[in-house]
Amino acid sequence: MHEAMYYETKSEGRVVCYLCPHHCRLGEGQLGICQARQNLQGKLYSLNYGQVSSISLDPIEKKPLRRFQPGSSILSVGSFGCNFRCSYCQNWSISQQKPDTRKISPEELVDLAQQYKNSHPDCIGIAYTYSEPVIWYEYVLDSSRAVKQYGLSNVLVTNGYLEKEPLQELLPYIDAINLDIKSYADDFYRQLCGASLSPVLENARLMAEYCHLEVTTLLIPGKNDTAEEIGALAKFLAEIRPDIPLHLTRYFPNYKMDLPPTPRHSMNQALHEARQYLTHVYLGNV
Ligand code: SF4
Repeated sequence: MHEAMYYETKSEGRVVCYLCPHHCRLGEGQLGICQARQNLQGKLYSLNYGQVSSISLDPIEKKPLRRFQPGSSILSVGSFGCNFRCSYCQNWSISQQKPDTRKISPEELVDLAQQYKNSHPDCIGIAYTYSEPVIWYEYVLDSSRAVKQYGLSNVLVTNGYLEKEPLQELLPYIDAINLDIKSYADDFYRQLCGASLSPVLENARLMAEYCHLEVTTLLIPGKNDTAEEIGALAKFLAEIRPDIPLHLTRYFPNYKMDLPPTPRHSMNQALHEARQYLTHVYLGNV
């Protein structure tokens, strides 16, 4: 266990976590919504610091990043926990359950990345992915600092649901981000993810100031795939920068959602709509 950052102890040992906009207020022994931070005797602890549930060398295009170091590979790591409750989660076995983990310190992670680089010269660094990197923030921050000291790159694949201050502390070490904007409707975020849209949009602007940014939206039939909604999302991104790549990926039934896969014609309509505003739009899972 590792003491968390961004929290305050209140009266009677209660703590408030300020890492993400949920601002969980936790009594003794209670876990946050993310299931990865716990109040123990008036201190907040990160339960997944260095607890790696998945590790693999992946092509950068799998993150997906299409316009950041194309053709490279990246050592990809994830832990457990998530601050969203998406009923259609594609990684639910590590985001909504506690999988087996292996302890890897930030220093050991950098050593591993260097070993991979020796055997695979196209390996550029570390991607924090598979589960939500915000939820092991302290580990991602420590590892990212160490990674930069060795001249390697850091990539985040994130839902972007964290407070501005911790994001600003992390961004100087991050080279590229794939931000998952789940919908351009706040109702979608509230009903299907248990979160809200505006912090994600504000963070998108901030991320684009610091590093290479690409965006992914999983299109779910009847939930977020209308031409109007895709157009509004693409317009928002174009106002930040029209060359932000947008990945529109096709939904398949998973976890608690059993709607049929997104029809091909909806994917093509979304592609056409987004291209009215953005230079680089890609379809995924098709
Ligand atoms: S990071 Fe976890 S504990 Fe902290 S506010 Fe978000 S959900 Fe709650």
